[in-house]
Formats: sequence, structure tokens, C-alpha cells
Amino acid sequence: MYADLHLHSHYSDGTFTPEEICDQAVKHGLSTVALTDHDTLEGWPRMAKACELGRLEFVPGTELTAEHDGTEVHILGYWIDGNSPALASRLAGFQAVRMNRIRDMVHRLNERGVPLEADTVFKIANCRAPGRPHVARALVQEGYCKDFDDAFDRYLKKGRPAWVPKTRMESGEAIDLIHGAGGVAVLAHPGLYKHDELIPQIAAEGIDGIECWHTKHNLESATRYEGMANSLGLAATGGSDCHGLAKGQPLIGRVKVPYQRVTTLKEKRNRQGTAPSFSSTQN
Ligand code: AMP
Ligand code: FE
Ligand code: FE
Ligand code: ZN
Repeated sequence: MYADLHLHSHYSDGTFTPEEICDQAVKHGLSTVALTDHDTLEGWPRMAKACELGRLEFVPGTELTAEHDGTEVHILGYWIDGNSPALASRLAGFQAVRMNRIRDMVHRLNERGVPLEADTVFKIANCRAPGRPHVARALVQEGYCKDFDDAFDRYLKKGRPAWVPKTRMESGEAIDLIHGAGGVAVLAHPGLYKHDELIPQIAAEGIDGIECWHTKHNLESATRYEGMANSLGLAATGGSDCHGLAKGQPLIGRVKVPYQRVTTLKEKRNRQGTAPSFSSTQN
């Protein structure tokens, strides 16, 4: 039995529907899949149903954008209670910030003679957590850029005219928020931060695990992160970070972690408290 604990759907910046994710997961021999859309739980109910049909175990999750000492770090939360008022209100806040950020980006584009409309972006995003990839798709669709990379290179990358910084919470707050909602917190793709010295500090803030296996980690770094997880008493997890077709070929199937890793993470969760509740009021 194998798991992929890091997957995005079209409810954030991926392109796959939950059903497409599950089809792919079955094809790749996975037994367990986590949905970890950025700042939203909107895809949970549909993913839960698709998993049931595909006889897959569903791990409900999200990926929060945070920072530690000024470095952006992503924190994955699993088995959180979607009804937790603190979490729900914080997610609603992040979603509002994302909406306003899209409007700011569009405004900057307009100032530079690109007459894109915010509604075009929102229509393409069609979810509560729109981001730069949706602006990029809109720019391509409307013929202002030749492809996705062109949109980022010319307008959306850091330092480019339409780039707007994202407000980020502190990593400690993200971890507390996840714990407060009964979930477990995992540091996503540490290899992307190039600041391994942050890992023990984030461990001290209470993180439960490290995403050791990831499509952007090579064998050497995955092994190093597994060693760090072991020495810090943290769960060693992994996931593909598949965004469907948003970034070239789908990554699902490239990272398959043995089910024992999920069991370890569940043990961490059980030590914390209550069982998750799934309801229709997911954010
Ligand atoms: P946001 O959260 O709105 O800042 O958007 C981040 C998303 O944009 C991530 O999924 C990134 O993979 C994608 N992204 C960031 N920089 C680039 C880039 N230079 N080219 C293509 N995609 C990018
Ligand atoms: Fe993403
Ligand atoms: Fe991430
Ligand atoms: Zn991700």
C-alpha cells in the first residue's frame, strides 16, 4: 500500500478534478491520497466521494503559506476539523486576501496597458483560492501572453510589474492553527527553501513531520531529511505536489510513500486528541 500526501486540484491551482486525481491514483497503484489545496478545504466533499468510488483512503488536508525568519515556508495540515471556527475564519481571511491580490495584479496590468479584467481571472479560477497561475492562464486565454511561462516571465514573477507580495502568517501560527483544529502539521518540501537550519527551529514550534520525499528532492536530500526527521522525532512523509497539467506533466505517481508513513502520522494525530468531523460546511 502506497500513499501520496500532497496533491492539488482545480479548487486551488491544480487542473485536475478530484475524480481525475482518483483515476490517476488508482492507475499508479496508490491506496491513499491527500488533497492539499492551498488555503482551502473546498474540494474535500467531492474528493471524499471520488475516493469512496475508487476505493482509496482519503486524507483531508490543506497547504498553508507561512514564513519563518522571512523565508516562505509551506505547512501541510492533515485531518483537520473543517468546522473549527478559528481555522474557518483564518481560511476565509486568506481567501479574501487572495481575491484582493488578484484585483491588485489586474490593476497593475491595466496600468501597463494590458486590459485584463478581474472577472475573467475569477471565472477561470472558479474556486475560493485563486492565485497567480489563474492570472497567467487568463493572460494566455485573452491573447496577451503566448504561454504560461511567458506570463510569469513578463508580468507575474517576483520583481515583475504585476507581482504583488502575499501576506504570510508565521510558521508557528500555522502549526498552532492546524493543531487547534485537531490536525497534524508537516513541513512541505524543505528542499525548496535552501535553509535547512530552519528545520530544527520549526520542529521546536511543534511541527509533527517533514515532507522528505517530493518531486523536487533528489535521493540525497530525501535521505538527509529522513535522517533529520528521525533525529528530531518527527514523522517522515512524502508527496508528489501534483498540480495536474498546470506545470507540464502530471506528477502524481512519481512519489509513492509506503503506508507505514501514514500510520506514523496518524499516531502523531491520535496523541493529540479528537477525531475529525466531516460536514457540509467545508471552506
Ligand atoms: P501564488 O500562490 O498565487 O503566489 O502562486 C504560486 C504558484 O505559481 C505556484 O503554484 C507556483 O508553482 C507558480 N509559479 C510561481 N512562480 C512561477 C514561475 N516563474 N513560472 C511558473 N509558475 C510559477
Ligand atoms: Fe500550488
Ligand atoms: Fe508548496
Ligand atoms: Zn503544494
